[in-house]
Amino acid sequence: MELSNFCSIFCLQFETMEKQRRIFIQKAGLIAAASAFTPQILLSTNRSQKKKLGVALVGLGYYSTDLLAPALQLTNNCELRGIVTGSPEKIPVWKEKYGIADKNVYNYKNFDTIANNPDIDVVYVVLPPSMHAEYTIRAAKAGKHVWCEKPMAPTVADCEAMIKACKDNKVKLAIGYRCQHDPNIQAYMKVGKERPFGKVRMVTSAAGYFDGRTNHWKQNKKLGGGVMGDMGVYALQGARLATGEEPISVMAQASTTRPEIYHEVEETMMFQLEFPSGARASCQTSFGINMNHLQVNYEKGWLKMEPHSSYNGNNGSMSDGTIIKFSIPNQQAKQMDEDALAIMEKTDLIVPGEEGLRDIRVVEAIYKSAAQNCVVKL
Ligand code: NAD
Repeated sequence: MELSNFCSIFCLQFETMEKQRRIFIQKAGLIAAASAFTPQILLSTNRSQKKKLGVALVGLGYYSTDLLAPALQLTNNCELRGIVTGSPEKIPVWKEKYGIADKNVYNYKNFDTIANNPDIDVVYVVLPPSMHAEYTIRAAKAGKHVWCEKPMAPTVADCEAMIKACKDNKVKLAIGYRCQHDPNIQAYMKVGKERPFGKVRMVTSAAGYFDGRTNHWKQNKKLGGGVMGDMGVYALQGARLATGEEPISVMAQASTTRPEIYHEVEETMMFQLEFPSGARASCQTSFGINMNHLQVNYEKGWLKMEPHSSYNGNNGSMSDGTIIKFSIPNQQAKQMDEDALAIMEKTDLIVPGEEGLRDIRVVEAIYKSAAQNCVVKL
């Protein structure tokens, strides 16, 4: 494809999306009008009778409280109906704020009885990473679909057990990689696939923030702490999604400037990846440095995103002048609505468990490389 055409193709895409949106609204109007006379027309859809899936959040910490519960007030295909918490003092606050029924409140001990609760369709695991496998597997055995936060789990073996439990119990497993639901991220994934600038030669990506806490699970190895699983997966996703490939080798270096806090886990991880096409990536992640960007150098051009992995405002530009700047009302609401729709319509999830596993395979290799100071082949 000619470079000069690419900008116009993106503009065209905007126009096409707008047309599709209008066509969709027109179609929806037709169905509504038709159904007034022939109600059975609605039976032709394969969507389940349930209008909205009921979601129970497990773990009512920062992400559930500040992002997911508010986002669940904006969703069309799912709603907050239950909570699972080990902190009894949080129960009255959540019940009052979100109108949660007594029968939909669980603690970590009686959680398995959620199997008998038809109000809850999906269990969203928002706990420290070391607990993701246990609660995903328990939820699957209770017959509930599972949404699990990133990083999927500390080890590949955990991830595989989670995928197996969900398959065995015929429930779906989605990983909370909200960015893959963001059209700004989807835009650079598309460039990687369609290659208007030729092959990817180099990706540079970084994800980090200054974490001033001194005694949090992010600093605790047993609980699945360490920056690589927490923020590092955003830098890694940048490289994997921009190339559309899986790395074949990795070299990594762990470091800390605050050993009094980061003595069990790394504060900073730098890692370099090599891909089958010959593309390379240089990635950084840190709990000590604010950084949030992606740069992709292709054979005949470049693409930059900054911010790259924020909750909102992700945007970028390309060497041919194309601007990537889609606005969405709420990233987490879009993620949960799309995942709920996929469950209801029995279609593929955007980020299934297998995608979470792909990252953890590389994360394990990164830790091995940093510990042994050698290149690790994948
Ligand atoms: P948090 O520390 O604020 O909350 C953790 C919750 O787990 C708390 O309610 C805590 O009481 C509970 N918990 C139960 N057992 C615990 C134990 N043994 N130790 C510590 N806490 C325990 O953490 P968070 O920031 O809400 O992160 C939770 C998950 O969400 C993590 O997997 C994290 O990576 C993920 N997260 C994802 C995003 C995103 O953008 N997708 C953003 C933030 C967090």
